[in-house]
Amino acid sequence: MFFRQLFDPASSTLSYLIADDASHEAVLIDPVVEQAERDVRLLREHGLALKYTLETHVHADHVTAAQAMKQATGAQTAVCRNCNASGYDLLLEDGDVILFGHEEILTIATPGHTPGGVSYLWRDRLFTGDTLLIGGCGRTDFQNGSAEALWDSITEKLFKLDEQILVYPGHDYKGRRVSSIGEEKCFNARVAGKTREEFLSIMASLGLPIPARIQEAVPSNLGAGADQPGVASASEQWAALENRVAQNVSARQLAEVLRTPGAHLVDVRTQAEFESVRIAGAVNLPLDRLDAAALLGRIGADVPVYCVCQTGTRSQLAAATLRSAGFRRVVHVDGGTNAWAMAGLPVERGARART
Ligand code: FE
Repeated sequence: MFFRQLFDPASSTLSYLIADDASHEAVLIDPVVEQAERDVRLLREHGLALKYTLETHVHADHVTAAQAMKQATGAQTAVCRNCNASGYDLLLEDGDVILFGHEEILTIATPGHTPGGVSYLWRDRLFTGDTLLIGGCGRTDFQNGSAEALWDSITEKLFKLDEQILVYPGHDYKGRRVSSIGEEKCFNARVAGKTREEFLSIMASLGLPIPARIQEAVPSNLGAGADQPGVASASEQWAALENRVAQNVSARQLAEVLRTPGAHLVDVRTQAEFESVRIAGAVNLPLDRLDAAALLGRIGADVPVYCVCQTGTRSQLAAATLRSAGFRRVVHVDGGTNAWAMAGLPVERGARART
C-alpha cells in the first residue's frame, strides 16, 4: 500500500494521498491549492494515477486543490451531497464506497462542524476532517454548524468504531499527526468523560475568531476550488484563482460572510423593492442603472462583491456584468432577498439614503 500524510504549514491542513499498489490508482483527501504543485510532483515521482480528490467538507480556512488537480491529472472531484456545493463530479452520501484499484474507502456522514461533513474510512485508518481532531473537534459556530449533530457524529458513529482505528484529522496546530479512536475516547478534551450537555456548553463558549480566509475559501470551495490551469507554480495558481468564475452562496452562507467586514453587498433590485425590504447592510444599485466601471473605480477589483436581488435571477446578470468589468470576486446569492427573509435573517424596511 502507498500512504502519505501531507502538510500545508500556512493553514495547518493535513492532506492524505493513498494508492493501490497493483493498479497505481490513487486518491487525495483534502488537497490544498497552494500545495497542488507538490502533490502533482509526488504523483509523478511514484507513477500514480490520481482517480479522485475527496473533500471531508467545504473548508473555511483554505481553498481546495480539487479543480487544480483535476486539470493537472484528470482526477474526478468529490464532496458530500449535503454540502450543497456545485462544480464537483461526485456528490457522496453516507455509505458510499469509493473504489480505486483493489482498495476501497467508505464514506461516513459525520455532520456537525458543517452539515455536509464526512469522514472516510480506509482499511484501519479514519480520515476525520474537522469532525474529530486530535484532542479536540471542529468548531460549530458558522457554516450552519451544529454542536448537537457533532456530538452525535463523534459519539454515535466514530466512537463506535474499533478502538484500534487510527485517526487522521484534517488539521493539527501542535505538530501531532495521528491518534486512534481509543485515545480520543480516553483523552479528547472536549468529549472524553463529558456529558452531551457539557460538550454543548464547551462548544457554545469557545469564542473563536472567524477564519481569516473564510470570505475567499467558502465560495471557492463550494465550486470545487475554482478553475485552475495546469499546475506550474503556486503563484500562477493564485493568479488563476483570482480569475475564477463567480460562484453562488446561500442566504445563510452570506450571513456568515457578512459577519466579518470587507464584503460589498449590492442589491440590484429597483429602488422601490429595495425600500420595501432589504438585507441589512446592502447597497442599492438597480440592475438597469448598474455602472460597473464606476463601482470598479470606487471599490477596486479585488473586493468581494455579493450580488442579491429578489429571487436570484437578476443578481446572476449583475454578477456577469461585474465580472466583465473586471471584478475578480463576484458571487451571487441563491434565492435572493426572499431566501434571506425565509431563513429568518435580519432585514431592514423603509427609505434609506444610499446610492
Ligand atoms: Fe473546517
